[in-house]
Amino acid sequence: MKLTVLSGKGGTGKTTVAVNMALSLPNIQLLDADVEEPNCQYFLKPNFNKSEKIYRKIPEIDQNKCTACRKCVDFCEYNALAMMLDEVLVFPEICHSCGGCEKICPENAITEIDRDLGVLKHSTTEYDIDFWQGELNIGEESSVPVIEALKEKMDYKKDIIIDAQPGTTCPTIEAVVDSDYGILVTEPTPFGLSDLKIASQLMEELEIPYGVIINRAEEESDHIIENYCEKNNIDILLKIPFKREFAYLYSDGIPFVIDYPEWQEQFKTVFAEIRGVLNEKDHSN
Ligand code: SF4
Ligand code: SF4
Repeated sequence: MKLTVLSGKGGTGKTTVAVNMALSLPNIQLLDADVEEPNCQYFLKPNFNKSEKIYRKIPEIDQNKCTACRKCVDFCEYNALAMMLDEVLVFPEICHSCGGCEKICPENAITEIDRDLGVLKHSTTEYDIDFWQGELNIGEESSVPVIEALKEKMDYKKDIIIDAQPGTTCPTIEAVVDSDYGILVTEPTPFGLSDLKIASQLMEELEIPYGVIINRAEEESDHIIENYCEKNNIDILLKIPFKREFAYLYSDGIPFVIDYPEWQEQFKTVFAEIRGVLNEKDHSN
């Protein structure tokens, strides 16, 4: 199975769920696709033993050949090119590497060059997890190519857990788009509910089955999420309680299933439930 853990906003406990679930199951590959802020490493203490740089193509202008016709500037939908005093300026951070400007230049004044975008790092960890982490270079805007490269590392002999970027923009969609199932992590607050609604809408649009894990669950406030899930027929997979002990472990970078191994059984049950849902879906197709 390929599961993606996502949330409508940051700080809900998405990484906590991804890491603790990975540590509760055998034969797991964990991909940290939150490439702007990869946090799984702080809990897994990896020894990175392999790294690969990720490049993407951006245009370079030969000003000697350029006749300042503006065709490339007008063509670029992302405003990554601008004309200044008859010279074309390139803004590489916002270029989407579509290659279109190179193709339409009538003077062959544009060539594509590699730009260093980020890095993939691999580690086996002391917890025996096959772990890959994507990192976007600081100042870069386009994380999707790093996530695409990270997903090429998927080992289909294992069950795969992807920790996606929070939100519902392109990087999150790239992480989840071909997953078997999405785990939406939320917290029982009005903000949590609002972001959960947006994340659920995304999953509906992508037609990916999904369920919800409530983090920092407290009986008196949980109903705000439960009511929404019940009304919309969404499975609540698990509730992780708001516990001082879990918060201390979190601040020390220790996954709570290490000190509370009984929680591994809870995650195993969630995993089995998801497998059941997917098997049922397969049979009904
Ligand atoms: S399309 Fe080519 S020739 Fe025209 S402005 Fe752009 S680089 Fe210069
Ligand atoms: S490659 Fe595409 S996005 Fe980048 S500058 Fe050229 S037209 Fe714009």
